[in-house]
Amino acid sequence: MDAGLCPCCYRRTRNPNRVKADQMRPEPGQIVTDARTGRSYRRGKLLGKGGFARCYEMTDLSTNKSYAVKVIPQGKALKAPHRDKILNEIELHKNLHHKHIVKFLHNFEDQNYIYIFMELCSRKSLAHIWKTRRTLTDPEVRYYLRQIILGLRYLHKKGILHRDIKLGNLFVNENMELRVGDFGLAAKLEPAGHRKKTICGTPNYIAPEVLNRQGHGPESDIWALGCVMYTLLVGNPPFETLDLQETYKCIKDVKYILPTTLSSAAQKLISGILQKNPSDRLTLDQILRHEFFTKGFTPDTLPPSSCVTLPKLKP
Ligand code: ADP
Repeated sequence: MDAGLCPCCYRRTRNPNRVKADQMRPEPGQIVTDARTGRSYRRGKLLGKGGFARCYEMTDLSTNKSYAVKVIPQGKALKAPHRDKILNEIELHKNLHHKHIVKFLHNFEDQNYIYIFMELCSRKSLAHIWKTRRTLTDPEVRYYLRQIILGLRYLHKKGILHRDIKLGNLFVNENMELRVGDFGLAAKLEPAGHRKKTICGTPNYIAPEVLNRQGHGPESDIWALGCVMYTLLVGNPPFETLDLQETYKCIKDVKYILPTTLSSAAQKLISGILQKNPSDRLTLDQILRHEFFTKGFTPDTLPPSSCVTLPKLKP
C-alpha cells in the first residue's frame, strides 16, 4: 500500500513527501486534444485540487463552451488500485442523468493524463458559500436541501450510495442550481449483510453505523444530509471537536447541541434525521413532507448575490 493513501478510498492522507511530489508534478499542456474526436480545449484556471486529481476550467476551441475537467496523471503516480477507483467513478458517473447531479460529458486519456469532462459549476460549492456566509436562512436551506434530496433520491432509486455527501461536493452552477457531484467514493448498494465495513468519508459527517462497522446504507447518506442542514443553519458541523476520537464518540452517542435560536421546525427536522439507529431516521420523502418544508416557503431561485450576502427573499 502507498504510504500516503487512505487504505479504503486511496485518497491522499497528509504525507509531506506526497505534497512535494504533487507540487513537482507538471501541469497539463495549455491546449489538450482528444485524439479520437480531434477536438481541442484550452486549459483555463485551476478550479481546485482533489485526492489525485486537479480540476481545471477548459474551453472547447471550436464551440467556446467551458467545462470543469478533472485531470489525473497517468504513469507511476497512478497505481492499479487508484486507476480502478477512477474507472469505477467514470463508469458510475457516466450513467447518471438527473437535473441535480453534475452532468458527466465525456472522458479520454493521452500518454500523461486521464481527462474527465463535466458540466462547469461556476459558483463552486456550498463549502465556498458557507465559508463566506457561515449561516443561511431557513428559505435558503430549504432551497438547497430540496435539490440535494432530489439528486440523492435519484441515486438511491438507482441503487447507488454517494458515501461522501458534504458541502464541498454540493456544487452550484451559474444559474444557482444545485448539483450533487464527486462520485469518487460512490458505490452500488449491497444488501445489509454484504456491505463493505471500511470507514470512509469525511469524519465529521460519518454516520454512527459506519463508525460501528455495520456498513454504509442509504440512511448513512441521509445522516450526512442532516449534518449539511445543521452546518448551514448553525454555522458549524454538529460533531466538531478538536480531537477526532472525541468527535467519533460524540457521533456514536449522537451528542450535539441544537441551538434554541433555530426555528422549531428546523430543530425537529434535524433531530428526526440525526437518529442513531438508521431505521429510525427520516427517509428522503418524509423529509420533503416535514413541516420544515410544508410550513415555510421555498424560493424558486436565489439571487447570485446570496453566495456572499444575506438575500432579501419574498414569499
Ligand atoms: P475531491 O474529490 O477531493 O473533492 P475533485 O477532484 O472531485 O476533488 O475536485 C477538486 C475540486 O475541483 C473541487 O473541490 C471543486 O472545487 C472543483 N470542482 C470539481 N468539480 C467541479 C465542477 N463540476 N465545477 C466546478 N468546480 C469543480
